[in-house]
Amino acid sequence: AAGAFDAVVIGAGAAGLFCAGLAGQRGLKVLLLDHAERIAEKIRISGGGRANFTNRDLDVRAPHRHFIGDNPHFCRSALARYTPQQFIALVERHGIAYHEKHKGQLFCDGSSQQIIDMLLAECAAGGVTHWQPCGVDEVGFAPGEGYRLRTRRGEVRTPRVVVATGGLSIPQIGASDFGYRIATQFGLRVVTPRPALVPLTFGGEAWAPYADLAGLALPVEIATGSKKERIAFLEDLLFTHRGLSGPAVLQISSYWQPGAPLTIDFAPGVDVTAALAEAKQRSRKRIANELAGLVPARLADAWVGEDAALQRPINEAADRALAALAERIARWQITPSGTEGYKKAEATAGGVDTRDLSSQTLESKQQPGLYFIGEVVDVTGWLGGYNFQWAWASAHACAQALAAK
Ligand code: FAD
Repeated sequence: AAGAFDAVVIGAGAAGLFCAGLAGQRGLKVLLLDHAERIAEKIRISGGGRANFTNRDLDVRAPHRHFIGDNPHFCRSALARYTPQQFIALVERHGIAYHEKHKGQLFCDGSSQQIIDMLLAECAAGGVTHWQPCGVDEVGFAPGEGYRLRTRRGEVRTPRVVVATGGLSIPQIGASDFGYRIATQFGLRVVTPRPALVPLTFGGEAWAPYADLAGLALPVEIATGSKKERIAFLEDLLFTHRGLSGPAVLQISSYWQPGAPLTIDFAPGVDVTAALAEAKQRSRKRIANELAGLVPARLADAWVGEDAALQRPINEAADRALAALAERIARWQITPSGTEGYKKAEATAGGVDTRDLSSQTLESKQQPGLYFIGEVVDVTGWLGGYNFQWAWASAHACAQALAAK
């Protein structure tokens, strides 16, 4: 089955499928390869099976609001040339019903399979050749001759290779370090990958007092970083048996540095110190009962239960004890011992160093005809559809460049 193609796209996930279809529709003879048995598994499991396929709230003038990386402005050019509105228009052309859930997040009404089917239809419209499962054992390059790929279905020649093999998260469904290895082989730098959008753990003993709270969910403000570089999210937090999860924790995990503490406000928008002082003047209820008016009762019980000075009616409580309690509610400091790792991470931070890529075309600055798109690049989005929007936009910028050559 050996042959020659105008472009070979490695990785048939979100970015690879979209890029292959667009390039094919622009007249290129495209081969799309993927080593996994099943197509686009990450799209299938995304957004709880409904694919949060983009986000309406994306300001390309301020990409650092929603994207992380050594150079958060790198993604600007591609995102400006392919907007969420353009992807929404494509979804609508394919008759896929969708809804907004929370903070601009768009999900399919039906299932994520509809997005996969849409991308496959776009590939078919572009006459894309699709080999799957088919691994790539070696990528060779000779100046003047272009690329020679040794694949499981024979040798392939092409002047352009697009690497769209994604990050390291969820290894059980086909993630690999292939993209980083190819980058290194051709002299591009790689920012050390790490799990992002991932639950945080707090190590055995230290977590024991809070393990009983497993299952409790509540809105919080969660923050990390020094005063100057403080980053905070107002989202739901979930206690688990091993630590903390929920959207608030997934978001902050992408910014968390090992060893750094997190600060959590369990009653955002409430002046807990003032509320407890006021309650002391007017109430004879137990402290835990008064506190339960400000935070969920389970949390109130857990926080009060640890301290003998708080086992009493609030009017008999010492001011100092109430102030300390307020501090624990509004500014709870806790240092994670680690993350749940790639098995549970929704994304991989780090990746191919953007200093070595063109932000216009996603082509390597040194190695002609070698492109990197999607999550393999050191661009990581927030939770909420931003990672898919980066996959679509980087694929689009790359496809434009492929067709222009
Ligand atoms: P992928 O979609 O991961 O595709 C990479 C492809 O490359 C895979 O098909 C893989 O098999 C193939 N591949 C890997 N190595 C090789 C190799 N050596 N040879 C050949 N092929 C290879 N993002 C959102 O925006 N919204 C969501 O709702 C959302 N939900 C998520 C839920 C979960 C549980 C997870 C894990 C992620 C979620 N994400 C979500 C993130 C999103 O799925 C990814 O950011 C996105 O899929 C990245 O696209 P990609 O094309 O770069 O990589």
